[in-house]
Amino acid sequence: MGRLADQPGGDRRLSRARRTPPVSPAGDAVATTIVHAGRNGYAEGIVNPPVWRASTMLFDSIADLDAALRAPDAALFYGRRGGPTHWALEDALTALEPGAAGTKLYPSGVAAIATALLSVLAAGDHVLIADSAYDPTRLFADGFLKRFGIAATYYPPGIGAGIAALIEANTRAILIESPGSLTFEVEDVPAITAIARERGIATIMDNTWATPLRFQPLAHGCDMSVQALTKYVGGHSDLMMGSVTAAESHWARLKTTTYRLGQTVSPDDAALALRGLRTLAVRLDRHESSAIKVARWLETQPLVAQVRHPALPSCPGHEVFTRDFTGATGLFAFVLTAGGRADTAALLDDLRHFGIGFSWGGFESLAIPADFTGCRTARPADFPGPVIRLSIGLEDPDDLIADLAAGLARYAAALGA
Ligand SMILES: *Cc1c(COP(=O)(O)O)cnc(C)c1O
Repeated sequence: MGRLADQPGGDRRLSRARRTPPVSPAGDAVATTIVHAGRNGYAEGIVNPPVWRASTMLFDSIADLDAALRAPDAALFYGRRGGPTHWALEDALTALEPGAAGTKLYPSGVAAIATALLSVLAAGDHVLIADSAYDPTRLFADGFLKRFGIAATYYPPGIGAGIAALIEANTRAILIESPGSLTFEVEDVPAITAIARERGIATIMDNTWATPLRFQPLAHGCDMSVQALTKYVGGHSDLMMGSVTAAESHWARLKTTTYRLGQTVSPDDAALALRGLRTLAVRLDRHESSAIKVARWLETQPLVAQVRHPALPSCPGHEVFTRDFTGATGLFAFVLTAGGRADTAALLDDLRHFGIGFSWGGFESLAIPADFTGCRTARPADFPGPVIRLSIGLEDPDDLIADLAAGLARYAAALGA
């Protein structure tokens, strides 16, 4: 009673759930790899791994239990260590990054960033964080790490090799985000990681904007690569999840920290993220081409002071972008020449195709005013007027342009321009 071998089909259940290395056929384009990656035989001939919901996983015997205790990540163990649905997604994400040893999943992008930082930092340490990092990353450093005796310094995103001057004796980690949130500066990642490697400092990159289809942090010297899967990988605005993909040198600590913090996601959500991943390449191509079309059009508008899209030569770090990235995506910002909240409202309130909302990377376009309160300390955010961030969705770009043209006309009327 209870022995798996005695249940109908039981002897096959565990053997099918053994972990096998990710499928990563050498030389294939990432767009090819994402179609098949992670399908490692957990589900035999089923294309999409089924949703395996499980907390308890039964052992055949004490000998079987003891073997599992010696290698708890080798096969089914307990729900908090994940199951075949999680492994399919983890292995797929690992297969997208050359040099990766493994991937862990988190209930949000912020949880992924927090866990990556906690895997390398201890009391008395110092961390360098890009001044343009996602605001909640900053809140985690200032409002949480600080309480545990970990100090943060914010560096200007264009710093490159100049980061050497900010390194202190107790600096243990550098948190890179490129392009930066809200202002889209592109960082010289290889210059930063080369210095960090010499000094034994861990580098963590928030790669949510680019995804591994456009930039591969580990191949550029980073130790850990973070994604808010909530954004492009999920792609349909109905999922919260984060991931950290680590190089061999940081994989064991990441795994242990993740387990000790009790970080886990539901298999239903993992299946949803994996489904999103399969179509990421085609979606990104469309987000990219439409965003560049809209961005170029915005550049011609007299009431637009600046457009911040890394693919445009006017964006800070554009040369580094063309050197290191294999393409762009659909999130960028533009700066208005003048005005305040009411003028911004005149522009955004009646847009037909852009929703006003947080997050991005879904199929639908979004617009939101950037708020720099408390989140630029290395250099003040200095813009002539409001900054609007756009997430360009999968609509026809000409409809989006017409919508923005009408919005800019309302803005002009509000300004009295
Ligand atoms: C949204 C976002 C995150 C956080 O992801 P959540 O899933 O919302 O917690 C992290 N980094 C960047 C750059 C983001 O845009």
